[in-house]
Amino acid sequence: MTETQAGMEAAVVAASNSSQVPAIELDGVVKEYLAHGEVVQAVKGVTLTIAEGEFFSLLGPSGCGKTTTMRMIAGFEDPSRGTVRLHGQDVTNVPANKRDVNMVFQSYALFPHMNVWENVAFGLRRKKVGDAEIKRRVGEILEIVALTGREKRRPREMSGGQQQRVALARALVNNPRALLLDEPLGALDLKLRQAMQIELKRIQREVGITFVYVTHDQSEALTMSDRIAVMNDGLVEQLATPREIYERPATAFVANFIGTSNLLSGTVDRVEAGSAVLELDEKSRVLVGQASHRAGEPIAVTVRPEKITISTEEPAGDLSIVRGTVSEVVYLGLYNSYAVNLSDGAEITVFQQNALDSTSTAERGDTVWLSWQPHHSYAIGN
Ligand code: ADP
Ligand code: MG
Repeated sequence: MTETQAGMEAAVVAASNSSQVPAIELDGVVKEYLAHGEVVQAVKGVTLTIAEGEFFSLLGPSGCGKTTTMRMIAGFEDPSRGTVRLHGQDVTNVPANKRDVNMVFQSYALFPHMNVWENVAFGLRRKKVGDAEIKRRVGEILEIVALTGREKRRPREMSGGQQQRVALARALVNNPRALLLDEPLGALDLKLRQAMQIELKRIQREVGITFVYVTHDQSEALTMSDRIAVMNDGLVEQLATPREIYERPATAFVANFIGTSNLLSGTVDRVEAGSAVLELDEKSRVLVGQASHRAGEPIAVTVRPEKITISTEEPAGDLSIVRGTVSEVVYLGLYNSYAVNLSDGAEITVFQQNALDSTSTAERGDTVWLSWQPHHSYAIGN
């Protein structure tokens, strides 16, 4: 084991020992701006706790308050109300340069006239760190971001992904206890972005510090995060693991924002063997497992496209079974996507994986049955 690795493991151990104290806490944080004489609430009351060493994402559409939330963690904005704590200490009124966090932006703004080494060393030189120490730390960080051997390159001689890794190195070299990243991959094309997602996750694992990641890209958040806060209009709609957010969306907004989802709504007709039953028409019923709903109550249900089986013959069993007409079939390589219209006008999307021996079962215009297990119907709030 090299000294570097040993040092890093020690850092990871230290992080897990102090894991009782959260890295970041927001408590009822509100941010109001005065714009054209009117009060705009960019963040309407966010309370959340981020654990030490966690890869945590703020995910939501443009304008939902992600950047504002991040800037309050970094200390670039003062909250109008509420408290920000870092490692257990109230830092609400502590300026950015006195907080033990570093921020990386989409526009990485490297110094164009400096090479990679000088860009990364810049902050340490300004802090009057000794030459030997600078040499050790810059070398160590360049190894982590896989830029060893590129020390002499200028930013313009590098790809966007490499430049972003220099920006990352420049933040990490300060040994922050947390790194805040605001849409850092936004300027990269899809292939590079996907490669950098894996790379970022590896770097985070290696340095063992808390990453807070802002993105509007759901697949990016699902790929990298330990937990995700899904934001909408200045509020957190759901805070959970990627799997939970995908499998059990708390609200219609989350269900629609993350992946493709089908929404069905109606009134509970009866409760049978632990499932709420919605009769959509004489040939269609939806079973909702684990629902605490009673007969007569309105209910909204989501079901993911890949949980649904499509068949040209009526299935049997304790399943949700709905009848419809295929309005569209799209071949997508890995799977087929079917659009199926129900008698009440609702459209259901179904993904069917292309197995080795699969033959196309349904075509446009066919009457089909869709079926799925009761526990794949998930009742949601508003
Ligand atoms: P996101 O990063 O999720 O796209 P932001 O946090 O940047 O969202 O912005 C949230 C809302 O607050 C937006 O409606 C934005 O226009 C508004 N906002 C952000 N900064 C300011 C400001 N300095 N003055 C007025 N309104 C602002
Ligand atoms: Mg933003």
